[in-house]
Amino acid sequence: MECYLDNSATTKPCSEAVDAAMDALTNRWGNPSSLHSVGDSANDLLTECRKTAAKHLKASPDEVIFTGCGTDSNNLAIFGAVRALKRRGNRIITTDIEHPSVELPMQRLEEDGFEVVRLPVDKDGRISVTDLKNAVNKKTILISIMYVNNEVGSIQPIKAARAAVTKAASPALIHCDCVQAFGKLPVVPRQMGADLVSASGHKIHGPKGVGLLYVKKGIRILPYLLGGGQERGLRSGTEAMPNIAGFAAAMDAVGDLDQNYSHVKTLRDSLVEQLLAQNPETSVVINSGEDALPYVLNFSAPGIPSEVMRNFLSERGVYVSTGSACSKGHRSRVLEEMKIPPERIDSAVRVSFSRFNTQEEVDYTAQCVSDAIATLRKH
Ligand code: PLP
Repeated sequence: MECYLDNSATTKPCSEAVDAAMDALTNRWGNPSSLHSVGDSANDLLTECRKTAAKHLKASPDEVIFTGCGTDSNNLAIFGAVRALKRRGNRIITTDIEHPSVELPMQRLEEDGFEVVRLPVDKDGRISVTDLKNAVNKKTILISIMYVNNEVGSIQPIKAARAAVTKAASPALIHCDCVQAFGKLPVVPRQMGADLVSASGHKIHGPKGVGLLYVKKGIRILPYLLGGGQERGLRSGTEAMPNIAGFAAAMDAVGDLDQNYSHVKTLRDSLVEQLLAQNPETSVVINSGEDALPYVLNFSAPGIPSEVMRNFLSERGVYVSTGSACSKGHRSRVLEEMKIPPERIDSAVRVSFSRFNTQEEVDYTAQCVSDAIATLRKH
């Protein structure tokens, strides 16, 4: 049996995305900027895809900028906002557990002399609203907080950022990395109070190499990729129509968010229950908080190194990840910030679900983890 449970790393493209990408490659391969009918056909497709993305974000099509990936969206949001607002202040607020595509731009901005304040997280990987409110002042120009964490699934109180900005009379723009939330929770930038929102195609059963950045109407950010002026001048480069078409089709294919959520929650709860019931106390410890998004479950089998568990499971067709696929070889910063003891961090495994996973897969996975514990603890 094969169980792909690494959906936070990437997802298998759904048939709707594959068909749409294939159609764009085969029939609508023109350059959307070309001024003839081949170009017009590609441009019409681009317009349709932008409308689709806008529909899912409950936004206006001209607020959607297609980019090359989630990393591209995060970099554009952060560097774009800071370059536009640098005369108004020097302070940037983020958290201790951001994805590297936010954390590394923050380190670059620090090198350039900006003051970066990283909010700490509690044992469940959540920041405190009070800390957030206290951190924002008149000199704050950007707040960048992820909605859902990729390693443990913690959900941040993103709406509190808008209240903090208003109270402090700060000019700050609010950016939210929604790469792990989009297609799983409602991502409606206006309701979240966000000015800038990032999402990525390959996390929602779309193609790799495409992302989007929502940029609220009236907000000015500056581009870092300069060239032909595509995407309202914010992200130059000929639009990758097969990827964009696949992304839009994948958005439409997501279906009912609540239904998917409850299906995945049943799977997550069942896996937790089986792991805890089948193994003696302390054999398995759950690292994700109770309120985490059920799509991500992080657990440890202390004493069994993460990579040993991962390889044992992989040999049996169960694909999970150790920490995040993006931070290969390093002890997880996210788990360290959650103050999880080192021996638990070194045995942490991330299971990440999609709406396509089944109860049968969960039962098989629980059995394989128990087999791993029984086999590997003997040695
Ligand atoms: N942000 C988060 C929270 C992620 O999990 C990821 C990818 O794992 C990214 C950003 C980067 O997305 P992409 O792989 O599309 O560059």
